Amino acid sequence: MPSIQSNVDLRPYNTFGLSVKSDHFTEIGSVEEFQQLRQSDTYRNNRRLILGGGSNVLFRGDFHGLVIRNNLKGIEKTTEDNEYVYLRAAAGENWHGLVLKTIDMGLGGLENLSLIPGCVGASPMQNIGAYGVEIKEVFEELEAFDMESGERRIFKSKDCEFGYRESIFKRSLKDKYLITAVTYRLRKQPVLNTSYGAINAELLAMNVEHPNIRNISEAVIRIRQSKLPDPSETGNAGSFFKNPEISATQYYDLLKHHSGLVGYPLENGNYKLAAGWLIEQCGLKGYVHKGAAVHERQALVLVNKQNCKGEDVFELSELVRDKVREKFGVELEREVNVIG
Ligand code: NAP
Repeated sequence: MPSIQSNVDLRPYNTFGLSVKSDHFTEIGSVEEFQQLRQSDTYRNNRRLILGGGSNVLFRGDFHGLVIRNNLKGIEKTTEDNEYVYLRAAAGENWHGLVLKTIDMGLGGLENLSLIPGCVGASPMQNIGAYGVEIKEVFEELEAFDMESGERRIFKSKDCEFGYRESIFKRSLKDKYLITAVTYRLRKQPVLNTSYGAINAELLAMNVEHPNIRNISEAVIRIRQSKLPDPSETGNAGSFFKNPEISATQYYDLLKHHSGLVGYPLENGNYKLAAGWLIEQCGLKGYVHKGAAVHERQALVLVNKQNCKGEDVFELSELVRDKVREKFGVELEREVNVIG
């Protein structure tokens, strides 16, 4: 039975670096430990929250319940065919560590997703994406356990209802399942995705003419390090808002008044706007609110500038949403999971 601690400071467990208390806290290193934990009164009688890397969460205040840190480890090849290797990673594995391992193995698919903070378990949860690649493209299946009955269930891609930074685990099955392992389908002969201009520009700066997956990964790492704050130095949770999707009519209306509008056509006929650009246009880049701030180099990221409280970040996010709504008539939705 994993030990349960009381009144635990969650600062080391959330990348915003917020010092909030959890009534109860435990870590599980195996499915067996999870099943034992389910039998305890603390588990049965409390609100629960599963934490992986804590990189996509904002605590508005103390958490009254049980925090369960998913610490399941292990990466193994399950099978392979002519085209693919199927790699199963436990949910508590560090995401970037997995990406580096696939690159060492010469397997293609995850290289554009280098240096995303967090754990494997979160990757299907919010269908993580970067530089033109989303996890759903390499996802084979995941294993999860019902938080109430303890029953094991395998989810295939269609069961996960993946969307833009979305899945069923953020909607109807929110807090209903513990994800324990994810299996990825990785190419033996990588097919590179350099559709985002930033990658090509970086490869050029690196003097790479014929890139391989390691070069792509290095380019992504260099771009991210140059634009995004390192959570170990400045608390943050990556992109705070999703890029909003609007109709083509609204897009062309906006374009009439804002010629520099950054938007990309989607397959469904709508347009995706760059939320960071909208925020910047409101003059909010670098804006400080109490201990929180809009990052100076990437307006999509809110940071813990100085010993801030979760509520400071939340208030700042509301202010950003208000300003963007006023100026563009566009509604920004939070990507970060707000607790409390
Ligand atoms: P960027 O390159 O400055 O581009 C701004 C936005 O325009 C991005 O959000 C991206 O949408 C979109 N975009 C750019 N080129 C595009 C293309 N060729 N086709 C379609 N859409 C395009 O963005 P950034 O903020 O520095 O981020 C770079 C990448 O890393 C993005 O993919 C971003 O989503 C990802 N990222 C994710 C997080 C996170 O926490 N989830 C944090 C940082 C960065 P998309 O966001 O839809 O790609």
